[in-house]
Amino acid sequence: SERMETEGKEVLRALSEAGYEAYFVGGCVRDKALGRPLKDIDIATSALPDEVMRLFPRHAPTGLAHGTVTVIREQHTFEVTTFRKESEYEQFRRPKEVEFISDLNEDLRRRDFTINAMALDAHGTRYDPFGGSADLEAGVVRCVGNPLERFHEDALRMLRAIRFACEYGFSLQEATWEALLRHAPLLAHVAMERVGAELDKMIEGRSPDRAVKLLAESGLTRHFKQPVVWPLAEWDLVPELCAAVKLTGVTGPELRWTALFVLLEMSSGQAREAMKRLKFSGKKSAAIVRLLQMDEWMRQHLDKIRMEDEQAGFETWAGACVMFGKPVALLWLELASWQTESLDGRNWRQLLELGPGWIERIPADRVTELAVNGTELAVELDKPAGPWLGALLQELLVETAKLRIRNERDILIQEAKNRVKRETM
Ligand code: ATP
Ligand code: MG
Repeated sequence: SERMETEGKEVLRALSEAGYEAYFVGGCVRDKALGRPLKDIDIATSALPDEVMRLFPRHAPTGLAHGTVTVIREQHTFEVTTFRKESEYEQFRRPKEVEFISDLNEDLRRRDFTINAMALDAHGTRYDPFGGSADLEAGVVRCVGNPLERFHEDALRMLRAIRFACEYGFSLQEATWEALLRHAPLLAHVAMERVGAELDKMIEGRSPDRAVKLLAESGLTRHFKQPVVWPLAEWDLVPELCAAVKLTGVTGPELRWTALFVLLEMSSGQAREAMKRLKFSGKKSAAIVRLLQMDEWMRQHLDKIRMEDEQAGFETWAGACVMFGKPVALLWLELASWQTESLDGRNWRQLLELGPGWIERIPADRVTELAVNGTELAVELDKPAGPWLGALLQELLVETAKLRIRNERDILIQEAKNRVKRETM
């Protein structure tokens, strides 16, 4: 936003008034040149972290070991990093130690790609020692310096190369692509968490289909520290599958990954394990697993019922909505309409038409939405509370969702009494 740029420039000015050099660097310079909205602004400076902290009392020491201080302004925060050089790389991973330096050019030289190695000062003057602007114009991802060396230093850069190419619709410079093919096995040294974060950005990004294609073509997916696909070879099939059914046909982080797992014919259990290896958050992984479980359940059940019998169709759907929840059911409808091409049978097509309306007709999908609660039931039935209550409420919920009984207190209590009586008879 404009506000973010204004506050960022204030930081640059404060630093230069104190006698230091300071620039916008990296992704924000690239995105600004492309006319894209900026996500955040990173600043590089000749000031040492201590000096940055002294100059900006409102700060957070977020990465002092790497020379990074987060400067807090009114509406935005800025990562201010001291010019540095990454001297020794440890085993194809990140540098072991950093060395602070006073030269902007040296700082830009350690960066991965020419399009990410530009700087902008407070007056809007661009510093571009490696031809990043020209590569942006031409639409090329090119390593700064020798690609074989750069991928050898940090193998994650190979995944980043593919990510930037896909995000911006760029090609990969020939030497960069060749180095990537040659060094693909080095990816085995990179932490799965970093791999997961890059894959996530690719799948959620602008060209997930091309990303999958390039991942398969490059062979990178065969060299993860831990395999994430069963069988691994199936990555090779995905480009063909994606050509028919485009991942861009679904949006949102959960649906994209779910769709990819469906294409890979991975079960919910396999997907769960893959996401665990990729260190996805528990919340995200759980949401995706839930969707896949619903997909599996629907495939098992929908094929069996005859949708000509509307009531039977509706009851199956209502059962699923209770089991997985309405929000998941809504997402699943999107997933199902994305895969209609590959699914045959009228059941599916009919459900896609009727499903959304049916969801609205379902009066409750959680026991908390019932017109009676457990405490009241225990009193009415004159029985001490216990595990039986949860089970009974669940039964009432299913009956209600299937529209067999109405969601009214007296009706629910009567139904509960009938059920308990039937059981004890
Ligand atoms: P995004 O839009 O994805 O945030 P970005 O360019 O800002 O893209 P970041 O991962 O936020 O990417 O990194 C900020 C900058 O740090 C990059 O533009 C690049 O100059 C540098 N950088 C990041 N990771 C690496 C790496 N592995 N090797 C070399 N330079 C890197
Ligand atoms: Mg960034």
